[in-house]
Amino acid sequence: MGNKELLEEIEKEINAIYLPLKVTATNLVFGKGNPDAKIVFVGEAAGRNEDEQGIPFCGAAGKNLDKLLEKVGLSLEEVYVCNILKYRPPENRDPLPHEIEAHTPYLIKQIKVIKPKIVCSLGNYATKFFLSLGDVDLMKNQPGITQVHGKVQDIEIDTVSPGSRHENLQAGGLKIKLIPLFHPAAIIYNRTKLTPLWEEDMVKVKKEISVA
Ligand code: URA
Repeated sequence: MGNKELLEEIEKEINAIYLPLKVTATNLVFGKGNPDAKIVFVGEAAGRNEDEQGIPFCGAAGKNLDKLLEKVGLSLEEVYVCNILKYRPPENRDPLPHEIEAHTPYLIKQIKVIKPKIVCSLGNYATKFFLSLGDVDLMKNQPGITQVHGKVQDIEIDTVSPGSRHENLQAGGLKIKLIPLFHPAAIIYNRTKLTPLWEEDMVKVKKEISVA
């Protein structure tokens, strides 16, 4: 089976179970882009548009992500885009620890199928998730995106079992480079200051791909 089919299997698996947040959501928001991409962008969770269409980053933040990618010469054909949470939390509230724990094994499965060289966490939330190596309890202790954007970090992604609180992303897994980036929604509100920083960070992303 190729990566496309393997990802479809994971999507079917999620559709067949009652993940937390499913009851209040309209659609599963699984992922989009190239299943063989070298770069995976990971956001926090679907907003209203994404929930309605079942496609990540298809609203205002997504349109800005498309523009930002185009500016640095990349397109959806070269990257994969998904979220930590597979369903939208009601009214975009912060996800609860048990929701994150239930959803993230599927993110890890997606990443293990794609085997990207680089994961770009978009914004504070996704960045804190990866920096804490998947341990929800440690997320609050992580530095914010302003401090770590564009800093290349080596991490290892292991399989996280559903429901197991302290299995994390470390130990014997897929080695990737994590490069945190400002969230495209934040850039909409602070375009003049954040766009040049995003472009500089993307130069690093592209450099890492060329040496990876
Ligand atoms: N913000 C995110 O983090 N993800 C989306 O899919 C849309 C907006």
